[in-house]
Amino acid sequence: MGDMPNSYTPDQIIRPEILALSAYHVSPATGMIKLDAMENPYTLPAVLRDEIAQLAAEAPVNRYPDASAASLIATLREALAIPPDMAVLLGNGSDEVIQIIAMAMARPGAVLMSVEPAFVMFRMIATFARIDYVGVPLNSDFSLNLDAMLAAIEKHQPAVIFLAYPNNPTGNLFDAKMISRIIEATPGLVVVDEAYHVFADKSLMGELARHPNLLLMRTLSKVGLAGLRLGLLIGRSEWLVQMEKLRLPYNVGIMTQLIAKAVLRHPDILLQQATAIKTERAEMNRRLSALAGIQVFHSDANFILFRINEANQVFQALKQRGILIKNLNGTHPLLKDCLRVTIGTPDENTQFCTALHAIIDRSA
Ligand code: PMP
Repeated sequence: MGDMPNSYTPDQIIRPEILALSAYHVSPATGMIKLDAMENPYTLPAVLRDEIAQLAAEAPVNRYPDASAASLIATLREALAIPPDMAVLLGNGSDEVIQIIAMAMARPGAVLMSVEPAFVMFRMIATFARIDYVGVPLNSDFSLNLDAMLAAIEKHQPAVIFLAYPNNPTGNLFDAKMISRIIEATPGLVVVDEAYHVFADKSLMGELARHPNLLLMRTLSKVGLAGLRLGLLIGRSEWLVQMEKLRLPYNVGIMTQLIAKAVLRHPDILLQQATAIKTERAEMNRRLSALAGIQVFHSDANFILFRINEANQVFQALKQRGILIKNLNGTHPLLKDCLRVTIGTPDENTQFCTALHAIIDRSA
């Protein structure tokens, strides 16, 4: 086929903006201390693992899962205290929820707006879905530049604005009053992505009732269930019934439904793990701040962003010592010389800090 003179090559028929994309990069991490992807480092307790094994053994995997995932949604409503008058849409991770929203809004000329730096999938998915992307730079301390946001809203009249609260990769919470101003100023939707909510003690869930154009995203990925792939969109049903039309049938598999329900019946377990991660975050912040030549940024998430001289070399030297973090140097001018480390177990964090200390000493 490939040799036939009239057959197309990829660059002839794949959209140019897709040809120009680099695929989302996931670093190989076998055998490494993995502190690159904001995962929870703790597994589930043995009793819960036994319960899950039993559920898996009995699951009717020959059948499609419950398409509406009604029982899982009921469990989530209770576990996350979702206001009863708000609708819920489930995605295969919140990535899929972002994609559904972008597809729904992608009329010709429509704009999806976010801040920069932000979670890269906002921009990538805009390209996938063929909706124009506008990124408004944050201030150098990673706070919202409200004037720039309001001017960009005025100019571009975005169909939808994505704001992560706390933000990735910077870790900070934006000012809630500024977010309210943005919600009130925009003619379109504002989606507040609360992926890191459990580590922040703050949420805009209570604001849903006040703002008809506000939607909220959550995910189970950062609380300890990244492997399940379950994300949620919460908001008024007038919006969500439209988005539901784009949700692929059976997008949440039977194992995800069963396991998520089983784990959410024990909210204390995930909560304890989140508390341990927050304690370790404070410890990590203290240790990093004590090292010479490092600028540590405050984090309300399960990772810490820091700036260090020779960031590329430090990243590589850590990798050589079997420690994988995220190198953000070169991804955005505001992230010059910045690395991001996910909070791991106390032992992993100690190994990371010790290695970093040794690398800095060597280069001094
Ligand atoms: N939103 C933000 C802000 C994130 O940082 C991430 C993961 N890096 C996601 C969403 C995606 O989460 P999920 O695993 O639910 O697709």
